[in-house]
Amino acid sequence: MKKDKIHLLAIFSFKLLIFFNLQAHALSVKEQMATDPTVKTAIEELVLANHILYDQGVVDGYGHISVRNPSNPKTFFLSRSLAPSMVKVEDIIEFDFDGKALNNDSRTPYGERFIHSGIYKLRADVKSIVHGHAGAVLPFGLTDTRLRPVYHMSSFLGAGAPIFEIRKYAKPDPDTDMFVSNVDLGEGLASALGKEDFVILRGHGYATTADSVRKVVFRSVYAVQNALIQSEAMKMGNPIYLTPEESWKAKETIEKTINRPWDLWVEKLK
Ligand code: MN
Repeated sequence: MKKDKIHLLAIFSFKLLIFFNLQAHALSVKEQMATDPTVKTAIEELVLANHILYDQGVVDGYGHISVRNPSNPKTFFLSRSLAPSMVKVEDIIEFDFDGKALNNDSRTPYGERFIHSGIYKLRADVKSIVHGHAGAVLPFGLTDTRLRPVYHMSSFLGAGAPIFEIRKYAKPDPDTDMFVSNVDLGEGLASALGKEDFVILRGHGYATTADSVRKVVFRSVYAVQNALIQSEAMKMGNPIYLTPEESWKAKETIEKTINRPWDLWVEKLK
């Protein structure tokens, strides 16, 4: 009996030792890129995606994109607070699910990193997230008209984008500055998103999700297009939306081809 206890204690101490040793020796983003090709690829794509989103008019001086760490699903990569078009590899910071920067990185982060941490925490399937304020999308968070797929390109919108009403989650005062600026608001946003891949932040913008950087860029671009087309159609009459079955089938087909526009958008940056 005593021997067992000593044995268990030894194992426990050993595990603690490993735990703290790993904590103390957490690799920096730069070191992870040097030793792990999947991290290198993810971060290089993330930087390109930042530039594409600006070039395609999806973000301006504001907005951001993140990617889950392919080697550690409990962290994600996101730039320090910068306009997306200016982001370089060395600006990328690693964060945990509380939006806390790892590796003692003290550079100024985006105030709304909690959008990303909240969604990654709740949605294991999500590998990349975009947040932006594209004007075309905003009306669909201000009225009872939902953003719904009007064509095959944005079929991922499914039954229509849910709306995050910040007043429901802000405590104790429902009147906020509208920013998703803490863990609770980030988790509220993630719960409003639910199982969908696009959520509108009332009076603010939107967040969209996918299982890859390329797909989330694709979805951001075509969600904005969908908003423009839907608004135009509504001036003429009642739009016909894709049925749920059409949406599902179109999504299956179109999202197999996302490398085509990605390659074009990368080429256009040169
Ligand atoms: Mn914002």
